[in-house]
Amino acid sequence: MKIAFMDRDGTIVKSYPDEEWQNVREPEILEGAIETMQEIIKRGYSIIILTNQYLLGEPEYNYTQVDYDEYTAKFLEILGKEGVQVKDIFYCPHGRHEGCGCIKPKPGMIKDALSKYPEINMKESFLVGDSVNDMKLAESFNLRSFGINVDYEDSVKIEGIKELLEYV
Ligand SMILES: [Mg+2]
Ligand SMILES: [Zn+2]
Repeated sequence: MKIAFMDRDGTIVKSYPDEEWQNVREPEILEGAIETMQEIIKRGYSIIILTNQYLLGEPEYNYTQVDYDEYTAKFLEILGKEGVQVKDIFYCPHGRHEGCGCIKPKPGMIKDALSKYPEINMKESFLVGDSVNDMKLAESFNLRSFGINVDYEDSVKIEGIKELLEYV
């Protein structure tokens, strides 16, 4: 099974400064994301989303599990209506100072994905994100990676998500 590992915030949906997320209720899908995901699926990839949600672990931001779950349900509903089935979402709910092993660029979320889905073929998979932490995570698994407006070592820099389709 080949996987498109995708970051969520800033890659598929609009991202916000930390202090604004508590007011965000509706996912705003970024331009080109749906078409790109539809095409990625046509090309035989399954989509797994990897997302840091450290606000959940930092009480000074009033962002709760219920907020996250409701947002996620809406997000999946929007994608589902467009025929985009997401295989799984792994998220890190820990605060930045908790020292967990799953906050990107730590490897925990991909490790979890590999134990849950041992049939994943990492050589045929790739990761796309919009931050250096995404690129570092991919690097630690020797995973092909694409950075949206990110310059990082061997990662391929793309200017928008649609450009992925030229490579995968
Ligand atoms: Mg991001
Ligand atoms: Zn974590």
